[in-house]
Amino acid sequence: MNASLNPVTRHDWTQSEVTALLQQPFNDLIFQAQSVHRQHFNANRVQVSTLLSIKTGACPEDCKYCPQSGHYNTGLDKEKLMEVQKVLDEAKRAKEIGSTRFCMGAAWKHPSAKDLPYVLEMVKGVKAMGMETCMTLGKLDEAQTQALADAGLDYYNHNLDTSPEFYGNIITTRTYAERLQTLSYVRDAGMKICSGGILGMGESIADRAGLLMQLANLPEHPESVPINMLVKVEGTPLENAEDVDPFDFIRMLAVARIMMPKSHVRLSAGREQMNEQMQALAFLAGANSIFYGEKLLTTANPQADKDMQLFARLGIKPEAREEYADEVHQAAIEHAIIEQRDASLFYDAAAH
Ligand code: SF4
Repeated sequence: MNASLNPVTRHDWTQSEVTALLQQPFNDLIFQAQSVHRQHFNANRVQVSTLLSIKTGACPEDCKYCPQSGHYNTGLDKEKLMEVQKVLDEAKRAKEIGSTRFCMGAAWKHPSAKDLPYVLEMVKGVKAMGMETCMTLGKLDEAQTQALADAGLDYYNHNLDTSPEFYGNIITTRTYAERLQTLSYVRDAGMKICSGGILGMGESIADRAGLLMQLANLPEHPESVPINMLVKVEGTPLENAEDVDPFDFIRMLAVARIMMPKSHVRLSAGREQMNEQMQALAFLAGANSIFYGEKLLTTANPQADKDMQLFARLGIKPEAREEYADEVHQAAIEHAIIEQRDASLFYDAAAH
């Protein structure tokens, strides 16, 4: 049996192994990824999350892909931290449209002492609605991490973005080591980790392999691995970056699936640019999570009704939390799609 098909979860991947996985013939790779996927997941279920920006723009970090960075002029409206009740209203709506996880993101270097109490109230409120909670707030210290865990936060999103070697080309205001430290605090506090990266920033195949190695060689795999395609936003330094070959993007999803067989691999930012065939191929490669809503943070996201039409055509159903019967969940989604069309507050997976 091919070692990569062995269901044992590994944490000792080498650069040459991962590069070889990425470069094998496409059909072999997809077959292998789908085979691994079926050992751990229902191949016809996709987890659906909703993302809300609770504080937009004017971020002091200089991530070259990000329209929210205060270092670049992207014409984005800056907003203060959203009121707790407004966040809870959005969460309620997300639940009604069938999302099982509500992700809240703030464009901060780190949460301040002034803002944290409000953020904790948001976590408690969303949790009380019976949804899973996820936040992305930048770098955390140990006490902040514990406070979030105590409030009931399920997931913390903090992306590694790329390989350690390429990272300095993209971000200079926060180190890779700081990112790993935040992830370690999150794990130690008992929360689940959402961490992934972005393709299309000028990275090499070795850098893509390096990112996946970092994620898979963590002491525990992140439960959620968002793989983003760069959304080129005017005004950011990467606005003219070269396009990624769509098949290379699919390869990345497939290798993430093989290396982290029990994680949800999320087809994340950049989905707007993908046609339905490519999204179907992404699901075949083992992607089993999407963000759902009209907008990811500051960039367009395919509309929810289109998503559901595609799911229906592919025979895919949204992954339900255990307390929901599938039919109830599906009916709620279908009903709410109609009301979803004017939603406008959804957040980007690429942040942080
Ligand atoms: S990705 Fe996150 S940390 Fe980086 S500039 Fe954007 S909001 Fe700030």
